[in-house]
Amino acid sequence: MADPAADSPELAADLAANDTIFGRILRGEIPCDPVHADGRCLAFRDVAPQAPVHILVIPRRRLVNLAEAQPEDADLLGHLLLVAAQVARGQGLTAFRTVINSGADAGQTVFHLHVHVIGGRPLAWPPG
Ligand code: AMP
Repeated sequence: MADPAADSPELAADLAANDTIFGRILRGEIPCDPVHADGRCLAFRDVAPQAPVHILVIPRRRLVNLAEAQPEDADLLGHLLLVAAQVARGQGLTAFRTVINSGADAGQTVFHLHVHVIGGRPLAWPPG
């Protein structure tokens, strides 16, 4: 796959400064098991799946979390959600859960925004 950062100096600079583990995945420094890639995002299987299907959708440009998102991020956030649904369909899921943990107290451990796509088993509510 062509490196989309090659076409955008801004994206290349953002990627170079990304000191999270997802930055390392985006730079190809550590492997992942991808299920979708386009110019704005990457989706790959979670290394510690909480269900038979557990995929993370991440933007190539780093957003720390939803709490820090700005109005100009609206298109990108919409794209991530549409890709999440596309990925779920691609996995054969008719029911699934999307989760975005924002902040350590909400369970965020990687400070590069990511949409969890979880499914393949009955999911209880409320979450813990
Ligand atoms: P959160 O707790 O919402 O920040 O979610 C971070 C997620 O990233 C967790 O579900 C981790 O299992 C997952 N994760 C961490 N490192 C990797 C990795 N190298 N490859 C795939 N998933 C990862």
